[in-house]
Amino acid sequence: MQRLRELSRRVEAVYGEMADTFSSYQQASGLTCRSGCGECCTQTTIEATVLEMLPLALHLFDQGKAEQTLTQLEELPEVSGCFFYQRLSFDGKQGHCTVYQQRPSICRVFGAAGYRDKQQQKSLSVCKVIKNDKAERYQQHLIMLTEQPPPLMMHAKEQVSQLDYELGNKHYPINLAMRMALEKVLFKAYYSSFDNDQQIA
Ligand code: SF4
Repeated sequence: MQRLRELSRRVEAVYGEMADTFSSYQQASGLTCRSGCGECCTQTTIEATVLEMLPLALHLFDQGKAEQTLTQLEELPEVSGCFFYQRLSFDGKQGHCTVYQQRPSICRVFGAAGYRDKQQQKSLSVCKVIKNDKAERYQQHLIMLTEQPPPLMMHAKEQVSQLDYELGNKHYPINLAMRMALEKVLFKAYYSSFDNDQQIA
């Protein structure tokens, strides 16, 4: 359990840097999300690694919610949007993340960020809502890719995955990755209890 705690602290340290880097670019470029928009969280194709979900799994464990959340995740349909998204409109486009502080890497870089295209050239990925809202700015930043390069999504993901090869390299649908992270934490906690490891810190 101690090892998972230490690993989680290292993931959170990378998350802190990531938040600064990506939100600075988004603020500076003006390619920011529409207030209250949660459309990206409704997608059923969001993927994460078990490692990315570890801080959230430990957070839920500390709150005494790990088992209950695991049961709820097990009852979800195989294809579903993120369990942690709270819909605030009928179509689900308005809403918010209920685990914002512990959200995984993909959720920290989404909106406006860089990626490498098939020719390995830097390009700009911007969500379709921002693209529509801020079409002119988007075009400007496409033209300024060399002078003002966006931070690369892949680089940020790699910074996390390199912390632990076993847990950080395979991607799963986000709800499944969460289940696996919770199972790992509960399993370790169960065996730690035999070692009188009540501290779990
Ligand atoms: S963890 Fe939060 S930000 Fe990420 S997809 Fe789920 S609700 Fe959205």
